[in-house]
Amino acid sequence: MAADPAARPVSRCGCEKAELKPGALLGGGAVGFARNGLRVEVLRKCLAGLRVLVTDPVDELILRVLRDAGLEVSYRPGLGRGELLQAIPEYDALVVRSRTKVDREVIERAARLKVIARAGVGLDNIDLEAASQRGIRVVNAPAAATQSVAELTIGLLIAAARRLAESMELARRGVWKKVMGTELYGKTLTVVGFGRIGRRVAEIARAIGMNVVAYDVVPIDEAAARIGAEPVYDLHEALARGDAVTLHVPLTPKTRHLISWDEFRAMKRGVILVNTSRGAVVDTEALLWALEEGIVGAAALDVLEHEPPVTEAERKVAAHPRVIMTTHIGASTVEAQRRVAEDTARKLLEALAEARGCS
Ligand code: NAD
Repeated sequence: MAADPAARPVSRCGCEKAELKPGALLGGGAVGFARNGLRVEVLRKCLAGLRVLVTDPVDELILRVLRDAGLEVSYRPGLGRGELLQAIPEYDALVVRSRTKVDREVIERAARLKVIARAGVGLDNIDLEAASQRGIRVVNAPAAATQSVAELTIGLLIAAARRLAESMELARRGVWKKVMGTELYGKTLTVVGFGRIGRRVAEIARAIGMNVVAYDVVPIDEAAARIGAEPVYDLHEALARGDAVTLHVPLTPKTRHLISWDEFRAMKRGVILVNTSRGAVVDTEALLWALEEGIVGAAALDVLEHEPPVTEAERKVAAHPRVIMTTHIGASTVEAQRRVAEDTARKLLEALAEARGCS
């Protein structure tokens, strides 16, 4: 017998299959869903009764999309660890940024949890192994912040080279004194970690006349050639070439303290170090030493091992006269947060629909 072309697939939850199309979830709530072809009533039926806990500040768009899809959303940004441990057994999904630590203890208490959504890029605050052992999906928005982080990186690089913070402070105090800087044109930038952000930083650096040396642990010849960067597969050799070094690796057991005493010893005297990846990629004690020795001429950091600083070395680095520090704002732009919200909400709904057997 021929299949009825009008028949809709029926899933485990007894509802019809929801059509989750990329980008279909935005633009005016339920009306937007319908306009974009998402069968919102199907999705609502599928996800009815599921509860989502959001424990970090997120764009209001995520909350709106999740509520429109019929989820019960508790928005509790800044939730403490004790409260999280108490609350988590009640929820089917958890949305975090980088502040909330979703470790094994949290995951083991999460009796109903089906999905953890990281509204952003790095997954180093989530115990992926523990999540996988419990069959919990982890979703994130890997590309959403690339341009914002790359722009901040170049901004910090220029700020360090031109000593902008010092000059701004003088101006604020009404002291009109010259502050001598250096040009970036013709200088070499070493990019450690030639992924999404590293490549975008390299493109912008090339556009302002810098030479780029790229280091990674995977083959990068093609991408480097396209951008006009030189691949160098030895870390110390790559570091030795840079007038400035910028870090764009994820934080993993292998990249923790990737930049330590020996790596600073390999760098040029007076190098500018930019870190917008994760604080723990740099050994803070070694950085303090390298600043005091004059190996690092200036450091521009968006991240620290602990934020805000906890150890003596971290406090000294953050307050050092040749360090400029921002408060982990790499992805904090209107555009990045909107992209993060779109990607995260869509992936979270897809994962929940799949867990319910409706996708
Ligand atoms: P990506 O995965 O696209 O690129 C990371 C690159 O690092 C990959 O090419 C990978 O092969 C390389 N790598 C891994 N281990 C390495 C090692 N030991 N040595 C050299 N290279 C290594 O990631 P991305 O989107 O470019 O993001 C990079 C990092 O930026 C993220 O992991 C995150 O920690 C950080 N980030 C920070 C902010 C912020 O607010 N400051 C925002 C977004 C992302």
